[in-house]
Amino acid sequence: MRCKFCEKPAFIKLHYPKMYLCPEHFTEYFERKIKRTIERYKLLKPDERVLVVVSGGKDSAVTAYVLKKLGYDIECLHINLGIGEYSEKSEEHAQKQCEALGVPLHIVRVKELLGHGIGEVRTRRPTCSYCGLTKRYIFNKFAYDNGFDAVATGHNLDDEASFIFSNMMHWNTQYLAKQGPLTPGEGKFVKKIKPLYELTEREVVAYALANGIEYHSEECPHAHGATTLEFKEVLNDMEEKRPGTKINFVKGYLRKKHIFEAELEEVELRECKICGMPSSGEVCSFCRFWRLEEPLDFRVKKINGKGR
Ligand SMILES: [Zn+2]
Ligand SMILES: [Zn+2]
Repeated sequence: MRCKFCEKPAFIKLHYPKMYLCPEHFTEYFERKIKRTIERYKLLKPDERVLVVVSGGKDSAVTAYVLKKLGYDIECLHINLGIGEYSEKSEEHAQKQCEALGVPLHIVRVKELLGHGIGEVRTRRPTCSYCGLTKRYIFNKFAYDNGFDAVATGHNLDDEASFIFSNMMHWNTQYLAKQGPLTPGEGKFVKKIKPLYELTEREVVAYALANGIEYHSEECPHAHGATTLEFKEVLNDMEEKRPGTKINFVKGYLRKKHIFEAELEEVELRECKICGMPSSGEVCSFCRFWRLEEPLDFRVKKINGKGR
């Protein structure tokens, strides 16, 4: 088969809308979609400083690559989770990706910072749950401490669809009230954006391949058997039978989100007495979990106007 727009052989068959594309025209299609997502959901203004959270994996690597190509002012943050060899490889990939892009990379190592890696803490809390808490706190505080306007993450359409799906299956209305491509900034919460919101995992893999972007393809050892992976499988089966299932599900959710917002319990936020960040209790869940007595300070010291 040939590309829909030129004479070259097709590189990918898109199912929704159905078309065959060569690497160049697929790249154009992919980048146009991200631009449209940024405009449609008002994710970014042209002069805003963006912190891209890079894990070493494909989604965040592609996010950084495209934002840079579109001319945004970006820097990257890698959070080394301290999960043995998996984390070492992840950090190496993040470093290579940022070098190739010519973008500053900041690295925070959980084990050095907090004494234990993810998976090494004795707690009843599931590993993925406190890992998520830890990452979210660190990237928000890092962005806040260093004056970034937005934090970009690599969540793609498959991630979003399966997250919404699983929260519907459990009727977690509190979570369902708060999902979307944009979480506006508020006080010490820096704005969060998801530029890959309308692109499937398959498209992200194809984009990385077409543009020579290398990435760490191993799954986190703790994610093994996670239920979100099962929900992804179900949605992939549906998508195969009925192309467009995922995007229509997610867009439908965004249209109906107000139903869940109406159920949202208003929590009065105060300042954590340890770190000063927003918290529902006296001490925030991050400082409580890691038993901090002093706040973490992520301010990057400037040497000759350049970051560390
Ligand atoms: Zn073409
Ligand atoms: Zn705190």
